[in-house]
Amino acid sequence: MSKRDYYEVLGVPKNASDDEIKKAYRKLAMKHHPDRNQGDAAKPAEEKFKEAKEAYEMLSDPQKRAAYDQYGHAGVDPNMRGPGAGAEGFGGFAEAFGDIFGDMFGQQRGGARGAGGRQVYRGNDLSYAMEVTLEEAAKGKEAQIRIPSWDSCETCHGSGAKPGTSAKTCGTCQGSGTVQMRQGFFSVQQTCPHCRGTGKIIPEPCGTCHGQGKVKKQKTLEVKIPAGIDDGMRIRSTGNGEPGSNGGPPGDLYIEIRVKKHDIFERDGDDLHCQVPVSFITAALGGEIEVPTLAGKAAIDIPEGTQAGKQFRLRGKGIKGVRSSYPGDLYCHIAVETPVKLTEHQRKLLKELDESLKKGGAKHSPTGESWTDRLKNLFT
Ligand SMILES: [Zn+2]
Ligand SMILES: [Zn+2]
Repeated sequence: MSKRDYYEVLGVPKNASDDEIKKAYRKLAMKHHPDRNQGDAAKPAEEKFKEAKEAYEMLSDPQKRAAYDQYGHAGVDPNMRGPGAGAEGFGGFAEAFGDIFGDMFGQQRGGARGAGGRQVYRGNDLSYAMEVTLEEAAKGKEAQIRIPSWDSCETCHGSGAKPGTSAKTCGTCQGSGTVQMRQGFFSVQQTCPHCRGTGKIIPEPCGTCHGQGKVKKQKTLEVKIPAGIDDGMRIRSTGNGEPGSNGGPPGDLYIEIRVKKHDIFERDGDDLHCQVPVSFITAALGGEIEVPTLAGKAAIDIPEGTQAGKQFRLRGKGIKGVRSSYPGDLYCHIAVETPVKLTEHQRKLLKELDESLKKGGAKHSPTGESWTDRLKNLFT
């Protein structure tokens, strides 16, 4: 099935402002919200709700919107990264959606008024920690993870009541799920403490699900880790959190990425750094040295007289971040090695070399003169 254009989904022009996009989404989200569409209307409404949510998610993010404008669905298609999963930096999701969900579902997972007056709760978000290697983070990865899921209880068919018994309307709130509390001059509406907002009381709970009507299971989820992901980033998988209650929408699953420490490379944003040991002979004479990159070995020419700590940059040999247009660079830091376990003959050669260098004076020592001057200043 071909996918509808995101602008068409939201019913806004291509040059719509962020505000227009947000308003259009809010209207659609309210209209197709699962809570307002029961029975036969539930399934199509859910599809529309998801479609609008996806369109808003893409068009409200300037980078995703730009990618979509340029490449269409291929540039941003969330299905290419597994079901409903999209790469998220810190707080991207919360910033974009916080206000809208805040309106619809109250603070975080607060209650909203359902069609029948009952409290509707969005399910809790879940988080899952995933450890990846630096190579996997750079290239991207497809992974399968086991996450909790909930099924309708088979024993009671989701009612929560022991077979042969049934749930009764809560006497405290008459099934509305809320009660009026008087506090001084004010009358405050609160969730019914007796039935916890469900409007029902289960006199004999089902033994299998303990009156929950649902049982916890496990399911396997395919997750696509986008190339360039960095330590601490999160991937959101929409609707794979805990189920909502009283017809509320489910929470989301957040996959938190931890990148393992690498033996050779250290990452700094899109750049990589590594230490390359070089013999003092090569450092003095110059020459070709072999350096590691994420894509394999590379060779660089170091000039004559290379000093310890000098760094060489390999352009584009870093990592292309999730939201970067170009890969970063690889910095090779030269670590000059002092030779050890010398034979008598080697010692003799070095002593000869030392004599010869001393005759040449300070010209063989790049920091020599300024160093001697600084020492003089220190001791006088
Ligand atoms: Zn049950
Ligand atoms: Zn009640």
